[in-house]
Amino acid sequence: QVPVLTIDGPSGAGKGTVSRAVAKLLGWHYLDSGSIYRSLAVAVLKSGLDLSDVAAICRVAEAMSLEFDCGDELVVKLGGADITSQLGTETTGNTASIIAAYPEVRAVLLQKQKDFQRLPGLVADGRDMGSVVFQDAKIKVYLTASAEERALRRYKQLIEKGIDANLIQITREIEERDCRDQQRATAPLTVPEGAHYIDSSSLTIQQVIDQVVNLVD
Ligand code: C5P
Repeated sequence: QVPVLTIDGPSGAGKGTVSRAVAKLLGWHYLDSGSIYRSLAVAVLKSGLDLSDVAAICRVAEAMSLEFDCGDELVVKLGGADITSQLGTETTGNTASIIAAYPEVRAVLLQKQKDFQRLPGLVADGRDMGSVVFQDAKIKVYLTASAEERALRRYKQLIEKGIDANLIQITREIEERDCRDQQRATAPLTVPEGAHYIDSSSLTIQQVIDQVVNLVD
């Protein structure tokens, strides 16, 4: 049995940074499930499909060939073309969140996510890794932080990049997204049974990484 460590939680809690660092320390594979939803969003936007055409979106999901290169920076190729720079945009994120709400779409992407479970082990980062995709995972973590703290981190990131930002607006957007994620009918964000609950509000990234690595024997 290939060991799996799942890390679920809301946006901005530091899942990506922590998961990548833990995978590197353990020498395990890394699944950034959000980028699978984002890659499908890029493919759907490229094909000009109506976002309510679930059957057509499923066909695109079935046909898409994705390659992930998880070096220091994640590189994603869709049908051989590098789409990494398109993954982080607002349009891609919003489209991903709309198509992720369709159960039929989630069903198609299920196997593509399970395929990442390879020796010597996998760190899987997302919203439903411990509750749906890798229910039998050996170790489950739920990583969160207060909305204020997550907003502050996002604000600092933007300011560092020289992008003008408004802390009050970012906090409001994060609270709205939490509400949507927790209340959606399909795969709502929940704490998986048996998960270790880590609130990173007053912890450094390194402290969180140490806590998570210590869970693995
Ligand atoms: O984590 P990230 O922001 O990259 O995820 C993009 C979108 O994909 C999220 O807004 C969420 O709706 C969806 N998602 C999901 N299940 C996952 C990962 C992401 O529904 N396991």
